[in-house]
This record gives sequence, structure tokens and C-alpha cells, in this order.
Amino acid sequence: MPSCEWACKEAHELEAGNLESYSDETVFDKMRRPGNDGFTAVNRYENIQNPNKPVNVKVQCMHCDHPACVSACIVGAFSKKENGAVLWDTDMCIGCRYCMVACPFQIPTFEYEKAIQPNINKCDFCFGRTKEGLLPGCVEFVL
Ligand code: SF4
Ligand code: SF4
Ligand code: SF4
Repeated sequence: MPSCEWACKEAHELEAGNLESYSDETVFDKMRRPGNDGFTAVNRYENIQNPNKPVNVKVQCMHCDHPACVSACIVGAFSKKENGAVLWDTDMCIGCRYCMVACPFQIPTFEYEKAIQPNINKCDFCFGRTKEGLLPGCVEFVL
């Protein structure tokens, strides 16, 4: 049950729906990606060594040590913070989307549906929480 997805949305004031709906395991029937409506997604893979124990993989920003998104951003809107978080700054971004092309994990997403002030979105390592020494929303909820 990908309840970390619910916790992530709740932590970012995104439409999360009710927690019970996240017990619907049909979501694993297809591969999903993080997007503008949620910054992490869990996929389920077959375990060849033990078919009774499938493997669940959580996809999100890796907060890379040497982030390609930071290197690609010509205006410095992406930056690596002291606690490891890789963050995006709306005030600096010019919307070129180079970061989307540069990320080897295809993580940043763009709000194409917004004509005015579209955002780049991705996991922000719950920076508001982690900079204070708290756990990210998805971690705290699941523990
Ligand atoms: S660290 Fe925060 S933003 Fe990233 S996946 Fe977890 S809850 Fe979402
Ligand atoms: S957006 Fe991509 S390149 Fe940038 S830190 Fe996240 S995973 Fe790494
Ligand atoms: S879209 Fe924004 S954050 Fe991404 S590379 Fe361009 S200016 Fe930088």
C-alpha cells in the first residue's frame, strides 16, 4: 500500500484523497511516475528469485551528490543545500526546462496546463521539515 504517496501529498498541500483509497493495489498494474500531483510513486516488480515476494520501488528525486539539474540550470534556480536537498526556486526560474532534459532519472515535471507562472515540481526532501532536523513526511508517516 503506497501510503507514503498520501503522506507526500499531505505534506505539500496537494489533493491527497482519503488514505483508505491507497490500499487499492490495482495501482501496481501499471508503472507510474512522480508528477505535478504527487512527488513520489511506488511501483511493484516481479521477484524472479521469490515470486511470492514482489519488490516495491519508490521513485522520487535522488537529491544527487553532483546533480545534473543544477549543472544544467543557466540561472541557478536549482541548488544543492547543506543538508543534501536539491531545491528549485520559483523566483529565479525562466521556464527553459533544461533541468528536465538533464536529469538522468526524468524527475522534474513542468506544469504545462498553467499558462501563468508554471512551476517545476519534484520531491523537495521536505526541506521545510528536514532543515529543522525533522523527518520527511513520507518517512515519518510510514515509521
Ligand atoms: S521527502 Fe518529502 S517531497 Fe520527497 S517524497 Fe518524501 S514526502 Fe515527498
Ligand atoms: S532532479 Fe534529477 S538530477 Fe536533480 S537531484 Fe533530482 S534526481 Fe538528481
Ligand atoms: S526550467 Fe527553471 S529550474 Fe529548470 S533549468 Fe530552466 S530555469 Fe533552471
